[in-house]
Amino acid sequence: MNKRTCSYPGCERPHYGLGLCKPHHRQQWRGQELRPVIDRSLSPEQRLWNSVEKTQSCWLSNSKLTHDGYARVWVNGVNVYAHRFAYELLVGPIPEGLQIDHRCFVHNCVRPAHLRPATDKQNQEHLSGALRNSATGVRGVHWDKKNCRYVAQVRHNRKTIYLGRYDSIEEADSAARAKRAELFTHDDADY
Ligand SMILES: [Zn+2]
Ligand SMILES: [Zn+2]
Repeated sequence: MNKRTCSYPGCERPHYGLGLCKPHHRQQWRGQELRPVIDRSLSPEQRLWNSVEKTQSCWLSNSKLTHDGYARVWVNGVNVYAHRFAYELLVGPIPEGLQIDHRCFVHNCVRPAHLRPATDKQNQEHLSGALRNSATGVRGVHWDKKNCRYVAQVRHNRKTIYLGRYDSIEEADSAARAKRAELFTHDDADY
């Protein structure tokens, strides 16, 4: 025999009244807009991963989004940023005083490969770079979302010279600088 369940989309709780489970019935009775019930029997990790939708590049959490688009998870009585929580779960403790920077510039992304510890100053620099030109803010370097790497390239004689993928902005930056220096020398020789 099929037991009747709640009619709220995605809710599998047993029916209580008015087509709804007990917690949804209570929300309705209080005149609240119906929303997913936080399952206290789930661990914070489970709630985090349940909230994640993986796209080709990013892992997007829709948990408790802030007005500026950061996801949060309720952990031990406080809301913590989902990307920081994910980083600590999958990578390790965040060194004291460091921010977790989104290499992909997607605030609710929790994919560890898109996250990196940065000082507040670095974070601001990356952010202002991102706002300025939707890229890394570093000349000749852009972020390859799909491969989770920084790509270095230089423009020379109207051609793009590809210099490979790197794990950090700094490595990609020095590759681009070195190549520019090399090309500059040739340019100088041409004159
Ligand atoms: Zn329900
Ligand atoms: Zn991402």
